[in-house]
Amino acid sequence: MQTTITNSVKIAADFVKKGEVAAFPTETVYGIGANAYDEKAVKKIFKAKGRPADNPLIVHIARKKDISVLAKEITPSAKKIISEFFPGPVTVILKKNEIVPDVVTAGLDTIAIRMPASKIARELIKLSGVPIAAPSANLSGSPSPTNFIHVLRDMRNKIPCVLVGPAARYGLESTVIDCTGKYPVILRPGNITLEQIRKLDMNAVYQKRVGKVKSPGQKYKHYSPKAKVKFVKRETSNVKRKKEAYIGLTKKFAKGFEVTKVCRSIEDYAKNLFSFFRVCDEIGIKTIYCEKVSEKGIGAAIMNRLNKAIINQ
Ligand code: AMP
Ligand code: MG
Repeated sequence: MQTTITNSVKIAADFVKKGEVAAFPTETVYGIGANAYDEKAVKKIFKAKGRPADNPLIVHIARKKDISVLAKEITPSAKKIISEFFPGPVTVILKKNEIVPDVVTAGLDTIAIRMPASKIARELIKLSGVPIAAPSANLSGSPSPTNFIHVLRDMRNKIPCVLVGPAARYGLESTVIDCTGKYPVILRPGNITLEQIRKLDMNAVYQKRVGKVKSPGQKYKHYSPKAKVKFVKRETSNVKRKKEAYIGLTKKFAKGFEVTKVCRSIEDYAKNLFSFFRVCDEIGIKTIYCEKVSEKGIGAAIMNRLNKAIINQ
């Protein structure tokens, strides 16, 4: 399949309008989207990614009023989150309306909805004239793409259009919050933190790790580079570490590694993590040592992705 690479939002929207898929930039990671109301178009996303059919997609909107078309009821906990954080890097889970095809929600009676802060993403949704169902634009199992080069590596010749835009501002996928119950439950941590959600509702919690997985995507292999991922030990040495890389916040831990990324802040660590994984794979790094951070604020999202990358190898 030929892939049109364009910076014209209109050209990308024309693909969506005719039932095709297009990759596009957002502030979290790049997505691969299709008309959320068109079952056939949405199936093409699963095929291009090699994504299991029981892993639902997030429906992206450009206007808040579309939420009541997609969802049965906007619960009080959703209302607060929407008014505070939409548009932004956060996704709410609500009971779905019949209009949404089952393929989008993997047969669940709930739907994931997000309004991206990225103007290009919102413009694409507006010009397409429909909500856009979109997961991250990587092959299933590999790290999410944070720039269009990553998208081309995974999706060239698999999808007909890539809309080129800036690199992702945040670099991690959105915070996913189940708002179907009395209080918000965070299913996937992200840049909007538990602490921020608790300012709206004191009772907000992370999903307990026991029992049934509520966010089906969480059970799959995710975020893993080909290289092994390990936590760095808090000791320094001058031994040369060939084909080994380091990413973290602490300069002295980086000693001896062939490739290093010392991040300026926790935000910078989150933003660069997936892109560093991809660079390491390209240059044949065998093991990536990552610094552990405390599971506060965005640290919780970083540790979530690192733990997944470690478990999955
Ligand atoms: P991705 O955009 O590739 O990060 O994938 C979307 C994420 O949202 C996956 O982790 C899904 O499991 C999650 N998700 C989508 N719809 C739902 C839903 N109805 N309930 C819970 N989680 C969902
Ligand atoms: Mg994904």
